[in-house]
Amino acid sequence: MPIRSTQKVVDLLKRELGTARAELADYIEAAEAAPESEQGEGSSGYETWFAAVNLQRHMERQVDAVEAALRRAEAGSYGICETCGETIGADRLHVLPFTTHCIGCANQASAGR
Ligand SMILES: [Zn+2]
Repeated sequence: MPIRSTQKVVDLLKRELGTARAELADYIEAAEAAPESEQGEGSSGYETWFAAVNLQRHMERQVDAVEAALRRAEAGSYGICETCGETIGADRLHVLPFTTHCIGCANQASAGR
């Protein structure tokens, strides 16, 4: 096991998931309220809505990533690279807790793009 306490990781991921969902809900609420207060300002309502949609997509991807990491943590495969099966470095996991690839595979993927 690369992680000493899986339960600790699960707790962390659940907290992150809760935070991401709360932020998303707050943002959507603010975006929905904005057009009314900004009426008569041309396209600002649309821009606010557009920004909210983009952020929502970003947050949903983040929530997906957290949920996937949570499933991996519960399955005992958290911290294992999906491409090469090697253990992902603790330093990398500290910076990117929901990453599914080791630094080597991530570099290869971004270099091939
Ligand atoms: Zn790898």
